[in-house]
Amino acid sequence: MLVDNHNRTINYLRLAVTDRCNLRCNYCMPAEGISFVKNEKLLTIDELKTVAEVLVDQGVDKIRITGGEPFVRKDIMVLLRHLTKLKGLDDISVTTNATLIGPHIDELKALGIKNINVSLDAIDRATFERITRRNQYDTVHENLIRLVSEGFNVRINFIVLDGQNEQDIVPILEVMKHYPVSVRFLEEMPFNGGSKSFQTIKWNYKAILDHITTHFPSYKKLVSPDTSTSINYQIEGHQSTFGLIPSFSRTFCGSCNRLRVTATGDVITCLYGKPKANLRDLVRGANAETDVKTAILNAVGSRAKTGFDAQKEHAHVFDNSMTSIGG
Ligand code: SAM
Ligand code: SF4
Repeated sequence: MLVDNHNRTINYLRLAVTDRCNLRCNYCMPAEGISFVKNEKLLTIDELKTVAEVLVDQGVDKIRITGGEPFVRKDIMVLLRHLTKLKGLDDISVTTNATLIGPHIDELKALGIKNINVSLDAIDRATFERITRRNQYDTVHENLIRLVSEGFNVRINFIVLDGQNEQDIVPILEVMKHYPVSVRFLEEMPFNGGSKSFQTIKWNYKAILDHITTHFPSYKKLVSPDTSTSINYQIEGHQSTFGLIPSFSRTFCGSCNRLRVTATGDVITCLYGKPKANLRDLVRGANAETDVKTAILNAVGSRAKTGFDAQKEHAHVFDNSMTSIGG
C-alpha cells in the first residue's frame, strides 16, 4: 500500500497517455496550441504498461486514463486491453472530449470499462464551438448519447467560465434531467498554457450552487465517498445528479488519494506542485521495475499537505497546460 507522509493512502493513478489534442479548449490551451513534446519523449504503450503494473503492485486499484485526448493515440486500446487484465485493478476509467471515442465504444463495453468522463462545457452549439475552437458539436453529442444508451456510467465535466458559459448551467441540467448521468461543475484553474492567470474566480463552487439552487430550489445533498473531489446533489424529479468540484478552492486536499503520471513520465503528487520525479529514463533502464518503484515511494513520501503548500514550490505554477498534466 502507498501511504504518503501525511498518512493519506494513495490508491488512484491518473495516467496521461499523450499531450496532444484535437480540440483547443480555451481554458486548457492557447489557440495556437502548446509546444507538444517530441514523440520519443512520450512513454510508449509498453512503458505505460510497466508504470501501471508497478503502481498496481504498490496498491493502486483505480486508474484513470487521461491526456491530452486519450483517443488521439492510435494504440490506446492496446493499453486499455492490458489494464483490464491486471489483478488488483478494480476500476479503469477514461476522461475524454468524446470526439474520437465512437469507433471504440463497443470494445470499451466488451472490456467492461464503464466509467467515462466526458468534458462538455456547453449545451449550446455556438458556445461549444467558441470554447473548444473546433467544430465537433454533433460528434460529441452523438457519442455522448451512445455512451449513455449503452449503459456507461457517464459523468459530464463542465468548467464554469466567467463570461463564456454560465448561461448554459441551467439548460444543461434541464437537458440531462432525463438521463442517468452526473453533471459535474468544475471551478476553472489557471492552467491553460500560460496565456491567462488569476488569483480569484467569480464562479467558485458556492456561486455555482447558489445559481443552480435559485433555479431548482428542491434538491438534496447526496452521500459521497470520503475521497470524492465532488460534492454531489440531486434535484427533485431529475434522473441525473450534479456535482461541484472545488478545483480552484481546493477544499478536498485532506483526503487526496491520487497520484498523476504525465505522458512524459513526470510524477506529480499535487496538481499545484512541481513534478517530483521523472520515470521515463527509469522505465527505459535495465532495472525498470525496481527503479520506478523506488521513485514512486520517494515521491509519495514527500507530498505537500495541501495544494496551497504545493503552490509555494515554484514561482510559475500556472505556466503549464492541463493537456500536459492530464487534469
Ligand atoms: N481531453 C480530455 C478531456 O478534455 O476530457 C482529457 C484531458 S483534459 C486536460 C482533463 C480534464 O481537465 C478535463 O475534464 C478538462 O475539462 C480539465 N481541465 C482542463 N483545463 C482546465 C482548467 N484550466 N481548469 C479546470 N479544469 C481543466
Ligand atoms: Fe483537449 Fe481536453 Fe484540453 Fe480540451 S480540455 S483542449 S479536449 S485536452
